[in-house]
Amino acid sequence: MGECRLCHKKSLLISEYPGICLECIRNDFKKAKFYILEAHKKTREDFNLGVSPPKEPEGILCNLCVNECEIKENDMGFCGLRKNLDRKLVGADSQKGDLTFYFDGLPTNCVASWICPGGTGLGFPEFSYQKGPEYGYKNLAVFYNGCSFNCLFCQNWHFRDALGNIKKKNFVSPEDLARIIDEKTSCICYFGGDPACQLPHSILTSRIALKNKKNRILRICWETNGSMNEKLLDEMIKIAWESGGCIKFDLKAWTEELNIALCGVSNKRTLDNFAKVASYIKERPLPPLLVASTLLVPGYVDEYEVEKISEFISSLNKDIPYSLLAFYPCFYMQDLPTTTHGHAFRCREIALKAGLNKVHIGNLQLLSDGY
Ligand code: SF4
Ligand code: SF4
Ligand code: SF4
Ligand SMILES: [Zn+2]
Repeated sequence: MGECRLCHKKSLLISEYPGICLECIRNDFKKAKFYILEAHKKTREDFNLGVSPPKEPEGILCNLCVNECEIKENDMGFCGLRKNLDRKLVGADSQKGDLTFYFDGLPTNCVASWICPGGTGLGFPEFSYQKGPEYGYKNLAVFYNGCSFNCLFCQNWHFRDALGNIKKKNFVSPEDLARIIDEKTSCICYFGGDPACQLPHSILTSRIALKNKKNRILRICWETNGSMNEKLLDEMIKIAWESGGCIKFDLKAWTEELNIALCGVSNKRTLDNFAKVASYIKERPLPPLLVASTLLVPGYVDEYEVEKISEFISSLNKDIPYSLLAFYPCFYMQDLPTTTHGHAFRCREIALKAGLNKVHIGNLQLLSDGY
């Protein structure tokens, strides 16, 4: 059972990381912040990653994501992907992807597969090969190492081990990545970690892949925490829009303080970027250009968070698909239970009440009994 370091309340729904209860995060963030930063510090040091985004006015600026690191000599960016060596940024860049990739037969367990062309045939015949799920076709999944967030529940946390020595890495060029796409590949999904920290690489890869594909369907999608540079987001929108793909935003929390407590970083950029993509939906309503999801972290991402996120999405466009995802204990949040059936279905009701037309519960098999 966890105990809040501030108010000393004990509960199964308080995790040792961040070590603070939801009420204190919301109502007493000034005091809670100290403990929250301490918790994140430990999780970063365990992987030799910088505790917070470096801000050295004399350093080199990287503005690929919300962190806008200013990196001094011999120091690393927050994501661990690039370092200032001899006053040059060395590491992953537009020509050098720090990534792994694999093919997945369609339909996949992609977060949007309940509503996208690969999973349902939506957009046939312009954007899907089949009227239903695209059996016989495959998805190229590109996992970018490194992330702009530090979620305490990270379900893909292993990339931290893979960051390693940037001087000895085997990087993948956009040309080599695009070359493996064959006529049975009907979509690409860039995810990670988070693709935000290596967006120029995925944009270049996409351009090459779209040029090579001739007249066939090749959808291009991203799955992200939404923290990317706004100008690069314009490029993403264009590529996803033209190819029949989508941009999947993981909206972790509504309350900024909670986002910082859980993920170490503000969600302001994410929400602004989400609204920007939403403004393009009317240009191509189907298949959906924008898809949202939220992980229902017990004790932290409660009904209030889902209500506010739902109202936000609904105010932009009621047809944006929203997926509520069941949580399972992971990374530094091993001490929390899985999401209960009651929690998930209450949140679904709330999202529908906020006016959203397409609400889905993902990972149903993970839900535990209980209210
Ligand atoms: S991608 Fe983001 S976190 Fe990584 S170095 Fe650039 S600004 Fe920092
Ligand atoms: S990559 Fe895009 S089209 Fe393919 S399964 Fe995922 S969301 Fe659907
Ligand atoms: S945004 Fe995703 S990959 Fe990054 S830390 Fe959070 S859960 Fe992990
Ligand atoms: Zn408390």
